[in-house]
Amino acid sequence: MAKAAPKKKQPADPSVTDAAWPEELIPVQETPWLRAPWQRFLAMQQQGRLPHGLLITGARGLGTLGLARNIMAYLLCNDPIATPGKESACGVCSTCRLRLAGTHPDIHLLTRTGVSQAASAHGVSVDEIRTLIETFSFTRYGPLRIAFVEQAERMNRNAANSLLKLLEEPPSGSLFLMTAERADLLPSTIRSRVQRLSVTMPSRSALLGWLCDTQSVAKTDAELLWFMNDEQLMKGQLPTWDWQAATAALVELMTDDGAVLTTVHCWQGIERDTLARWLLRLWVDVMRLHSGLQSEAPVTLAPLIRRLAQHDSGEHWLKLHRVLLEFLQTATHPLNDELALARLALDLIDPTLPHRLA
Ligand SMILES: [Zn+2]
Repeated sequence: MAKAAPKKKQPADPSVTDAAWPEELIPVQETPWLRAPWQRFLAMQQQGRLPHGLLITGARGLGTLGLARNIMAYLLCNDPIATPGKESACGVCSTCRLRLAGTHPDIHLLTRTGVSQAASAHGVSVDEIRTLIETFSFTRYGPLRIAFVEQAERMNRNAANSLLKLLEEPPSGSLFLMTAERADLLPSTIRSRVQRLSVTMPSRSALLGWLCDTQSVAKTDAELLWFMNDEQLMKGQLPTWDWQAATAALVELMTDDGAVLTTVHCWQGIERDTLARWLLRLWVDVMRLHSGLQSEAPVTLAPLIRRLAQHDSGEHWLKLHRVLLEFLQTATHPLNDELALARLALDLIDPTLPHRLA
């Protein structure tokens, strides 16, 4: 009798594989600003009033994704730790092991860091939401299925409408979990069908203390991390992109009109979304100076920001807000990088500003 061919290992369903997932869960109970939303979730769950839709709102850097992962892990665990103040997934049961391997069939993810590179680069399309809904509707392993969309405001209108249909008539044993930095960009029809868990920004001193004490970050680095409010903040990791060069290029551009091409060249190496957020952060600090407030920037950055504030009037900077916001809003669109950056640079130094802003 012929020997049976060895069973082919099934590749993991790409929709449930996520590079960020197998990481250890962050300790939500020990993170001061996550404790309240986590306790609120636990209360809902323990009182049997967990909704079909949950939206976690708050800045990316504050661990909204980490909170979402804790919620998913806790709900799917067969034997979660129930000790008050220590509630968490057990990490060892069969479903926890599947989750840790990134192959839990009841987890359906649309994250920025997962395999869905298209979602990361161009927002969430209707096709991606349809695929999510399809796999969600036809797969069932345990009593609960969870669909998760990171930064749900990245959904375009059609994608949001597609998700709305499922939110209106959710299948039993299902949870739609989302995070958003700008919940106001989500359609009100979606917002009205989900319960919100808000992660509020801790005070500067609370965050600096937490970074230094629990993440062993040096104070100067902690100050920079707080200022940036980057998504790596919770990990205590400084950004890998060259924020110093990007800032110097902005100063050069604003104080020397001939620097458009060198600025564009410098900015080209940075993700447009990251650059847009950084320029807006610098803008906030420049406006603080124009309003007579103190700069919040770390000492290494403060002189550059003072130069920016001194060079142009507060009125000019106020107008630039719309230029920067527009750049942020199109930062995930598939535009030609060089053209988008050149347009931004020219708008920033245009003394009259384009007519479209009038
Ligand atoms: Zn478990």
